[in-house]
Amino acid sequence: MNRVRCLVLNAALGPLDYRVPEGVAAEFGQVVECPLGPRTVVGIVWEAERLPGAEVPAEKLRPLRAALPIPPLSAPLRRLIEWTADYYCAPLASVARMALSSGGALRGPATMTEYRLSGGMPERMTAQREAAIEALDGEQATVRELAGIAGVSEAVLRGLVNHGVLEPVEVDCDRPYPRADPDHAQPDLSAEQQKAADIFTEAVRAKQFAPFLLDGVTGSGKTETYFEPIAEALRLGRQVLVLLPEIALTEAFLTRFEERFGTAPVLWHSALKSTERRRAWRAIAEGGAQVVVGARSALFLPYARLGLVVVDEAHEVSFKQDDGVRYNARDVAVMRGHFERIPVVLASATPALESLAMAENGTYTRVELPRRFGGAQMPSITTIDLTQEKPGRGAWLAEPLIAAIAERLERGEQSLLFLNRRGYAPLTLCRNCGFRFKCPNCSAWLVEHRFSSRLACHHCGHETAPPPTCPECGEPDCLVACGPGVERIADEVAERLPEARVFVATSDTLNSPGRAAQFVAQVEAGAIDVIVGTQLVTKGFHFPELTLVGVVDADLGLEGGDLRAAERTYQQVAQVAGRAGRASKPGEVLIQTRHPDAPVIAALASGDRDGFYEAETEARRMAGAPPFGRWAAIIVSSEEEDEAREAANRIGAARPRHDDMAIYGPAPAPLSLLRGRYRYRLLINAKRSVELQAILRRWLGALHHTAGVRVNVDVDPYSFM
Ligand SMILES: [Zn+2]
Ligand SMILES: [Zn+2]
Repeated sequence: MNRVRCLVLNAALGPLDYRVPEGVAAEFGQVVECPLGPRTVVGIVWEAERLPGAEVPAEKLRPLRAALPIPPLSAPLRRLIEWTADYYCAPLASVARMALSSGGALRGPATMTEYRLSGGMPERMTAQREAAIEALDGEQATVRELAGIAGVSEAVLRGLVNHGVLEPVEVDCDRPYPRADPDHAQPDLSAEQQKAADIFTEAVRAKQFAPFLLDGVTGSGKTETYFEPIAEALRLGRQVLVLLPEIALTEAFLTRFEERFGTAPVLWHSALKSTERRRAWRAIAEGGAQVVVGARSALFLPYARLGLVVVDEAHEVSFKQDDGVRYNARDVAVMRGHFERIPVVLASATPALESLAMAENGTYTRVELPRRFGGAQMPSITTIDLTQEKPGRGAWLAEPLIAAIAERLERGEQSLLFLNRRGYAPLTLCRNCGFRFKCPNCSAWLVEHRFSSRLACHHCGHETAPPPTCPECGEPDCLVACGPGVERIADEVAERLPEARVFVATSDTLNSPGRAAQFVAQVEAGAIDVIVGTQLVTKGFHFPELTLVGVVDADLGLEGGDLRAAERTYQQVAQVAGRAGRASKPGEVLIQTRHPDAPVIAALASGDRDGFYEAETEARRMAGAPPFGRWAAIIVSSEEEDEAREAANRIGAARPRHDDMAIYGPAPAPLSLLRGRYRYRLLINAKRSVELQAILRRWLGALHHTAGVRVNVDVDPYSFM
């Protein structure tokens, strides 16, 4: 082959053809450097017939610059990239970029200099130096990273390097990871778990595409069950990918993994340092990374010998990416399994309706764990009708819930209060004139955070200090908090039960794996009596002394126009309820609601999961919603409101006619201003038989907009904001 077609990693460019010079390997999937005008861009050699483009005469072809020193992307991965781009109406280059998401790794082997304490002392000791030396005991990293660990400036550390207190160590950037041992510890499985594990293990051996739904109640030991097929994959020399929804909360998982396999898995998430990222990427591509635990972005990495994919808490909304390529990692994981010809396990206690439907129609094999591990009982669930048991003025917890927490305090047991609202109050207004604090970049209220004394926007991150006077009427000290956030609930607990040790667990307080680990240790040591938390505490945790779960406001999730509202409420409450009574002590769940008769709440209280799913399935069928019909959203945005509206109207005017498809809008999005951009939406509801993506591509591809306009397509949307 002396000419090749390349997919270049720039969404604005089509495929480009090049000549292959002597000595450059250019097989399909090879990552290469392509000349483009005076620049060099990264590209991937692709099958020309799968990537239609204009033929360039041979004499006009420019030669490739070089092949990068990494293994070529495999055919199954190339097919996955094509499928994802096609299904989600995304540029091929944007999807391919996710596979090559470490710039450093593409450049081949490298070494770098790290520093560690040499044992020497500086001639002149300062307070900063002393603090740094103490903080850096046992650490080895670059000067910049060490400065971050020690909380001192890099200049202080460079001084210590000059005095020989910190010594340089040359390290291989790609030093191998410790090996996981499939037989490190013998698992202790129930008969039910063993049966499930055997099914998965057999599937790993068969090396065939096999999608499974591991449907197990909370506390049934799903993790230990899928550890067995992981062990089998290790014995066969195959790699495993485990996707988790919240990477900050993997602490508990990592501990269990290490107990079973003798070493930690390889981590992949957005908070990795660039050196950790390149090391992980190269080990994944070369096969040295045996088990990778990651966020959704780990799905597109170029595994050398993938043998199994597990998606844990597969119902979680956070598997859906809501910017860039808007894919759902749960669904793409199944496609990866299809192309790689390997088993995929979707594990959940509250599967998404879409997954259950796939199990029901036989596409997925359903494997059930209907009982808790070790004989623990499911918690008892009771509702508290807030229209009858009204909390006092400015209070949010009804008396029966306060009494139940007090009871736990007396017994030395723990309680968890769940409210999915960060901060102190979701809305702040002026007592004098009614002025409401709004984000300047988004159509959203600013949320008061008392811990950090800020008003913050949860959409764009805008922050401001609460002003001493009202910006509208000038009245001093006039701000009132409206509604509860977790911080306010924590205050209420502290006020009513002053002896309780209360901890607020949110992404604000558990924002690193270290802090999450500290929190787990404190709860396990019995140093916390009451946890007040957001959805972050609904999963993954296993606290034996936690016997009470209180849901502060079960109605909250049912507000707003989200088609999955009922399902999401059911999942969240069922998951958080599952934190109670996981060991020998029985658990109790109290759900505060103003609508105890609403179908979701009634199903939760009676433990009637099947009833809930049946009712919800019928509602979706009536609405033509997934899994019976399909939705897609078109989001048009611009910094200029007129420009966004005009573009949306033009798209609306060009709408295709189709009997099996309804198009709503354009209309201003519920979040009509987001990060300084005005937003309009069109919503499409189609029967399953409609070739939705092809229609969308033809419709939108024929229209051209001014440079400031962005048009995004969201296939199978989760957010209707
Ligand atoms: Zn005012
Ligand atoms: Zn904002």
